[in-house]
Amino acid sequence: MSNGSENTVESTLFTTGYCRQIERFTRRDAPWRMNTFDALVVLIHHPRIGYLLFDTGYATHFFTETSCFPYSLYRAITPVIFSKRDALVSQLNERGIPATAIRFIFLSHFHGDHIAGVRDFPDAVFICSQEAYQHIRDKRGLAAVRKGFVPGLLPPDFSKRVRFIEDGKRYPFQEVYGVFDPVYDLFGDESLLAVRLSGHAPGQYGLFFTDRIAGPTLLCADAAWSMEAIRNQSEPHPFTYAVMGGKKEYRRHFQQLVAFHQTQPQVRILPSHCPEARSIAKGGER
Ligand SMILES: [Zn+2]
Repeated sequence: MSNGSENTVESTLFTTGYCRQIERFTRRDAPWRMNTFDALVVLIHHPRIGYLLFDTGYATHFFTETSCFPYSLYRAITPVIFSKRDALVSQLNERGIPATAIRFIFLSHFHGDHIAGVRDFPDAVFICSQEAYQHIRDKRGLAAVRKGFVPGLLPPDFSKRVRFIEDGKRYPFQEVYGVFDPVYDLFGDESLLAVRLSGHAPGQYGLFFTDRIAGPTLLCADAAWSMEAIRNQSEPHPFTYAVMGGKKEYRRHFQQLVAFHQTQPQVRILPSHCPEARSIAKGGER
């Protein structure tokens, strides 16, 4: 891949509230203690395309849509700490970026902590995998909750505003880096590459790009919970696999992340709930 300035972007990390969960569930060498897991969002500025979001994190819609049974079960299982100011749309407004400036929203997968803010961006075109969308589009009630999906978080016109990753051009990432396939070139300029990391959720995708300052970056969504897990090669607790499903695919992609980190240590990997990503977001670094 060429690293010329023509295909570099600028990225800024945000956290949008957090949930509390037992750390051991995410990493089997971690202690049995409650820890906090922030919901990371990345704002990407592409010189030609404009603003794109990687996920949307928590938002006020999460609370209105999970106030009644059965969706209230979701909130009971992952207690969320959030104030209105944490919503991405508020944080962007504070920086002088109106909601209407967001042209695209890339959705790694359809769990509530990744899609809760989409209704705050009425002009955005959604980019997700057809595989992920097919899996949840008709799910309602308990069947939806079991998939971590809250249907009311998506706007009614979602299907008219969505564009599927798989319709794009394939990029030979595996030939260059030895791992990850398929990978799609979102805008045909090699600037934003969608990397299939299915397992945590069916059809989950991450995003690979070169930040103008921080260099090559892989947003791996929930394919790993932390960089510590990748460094220690520590998989989730068996209980998590039992609840999550997709164990075989999760393990395959997790091992690929481990190998990718070992052979390409210069690439910054950012899992969506990683404490190290949270520090970057809170420190205002890129
Ligand atoms: Zn998830």
